[in-house]
Amino acid sequence: MRLLFFESIDSLNQFTRSLRAATLPPCNCGADNHWTSHGFTYKQLSATHRCVVGKRIICANRCGRTGCGATRQLYLSSTLPRIHYRADVLTLFIVALINGTPIHSAYQQATQANSHRHAYRWLHQMKCRLVNYRPQLASMNTANSTRITTRSTRSLLLTEPLMTTLQHFQSHWANKLVQQYQLTTQAIFL
Ligand SMILES: [Zn+2]
Repeated sequence: MRLLFFESIDSLNQFTRSLRAATLPPCNCGADNHWTSHGFTYKQLSATHRCVVGKRIICANRCGRTGCGATRQLYLSSTLPRIHYRADVLTLFIVALINGTPIHSAYQQATQANSHRHAYRWLHQMKCRLVNYRPQLASMNTANSTRITTRSTRSLLLTEPLMTTLQHFQSHWANKLVQQYQLTTQAIFL
């Protein structure tokens, strides 16, 4: 199932209001254009606070429609579907690393968490996704982008090919790099 990212709740609402006219791929069941809005989806941030992460659409099987009832999730580009934190938190982590902040501090600055356990998981996962990032990097005119200055900090030395890629993304998308990556490629950043 292909993910779909939207820049704002407004653009997401506009899309789900005009689903009949949308050019979505047919459902796996073969039903063409039975997609209909199934409401907002949320991520629970704490006992009292939740935020909208996107909307679900359903291959409608009621009111005379012959879909199968399968659902499909649409996301705001500010959401990291598989991760508790929002995309701007991951962006803060990345920008801190680019600026030479040590890995532990970068993670704690970005997440305000006490533990930095996931910092290495995030780095590892980004390294694994380099192969996904590269086509996007190639499609940017990197020759014209700001010349990348590498800093000889330990964090950069540890992860250099990744950091070069992330620096290019930052020079292109500034401090919206994770959101813009998801919006542009329609693929999850992490
Ligand atoms: Zn279906």
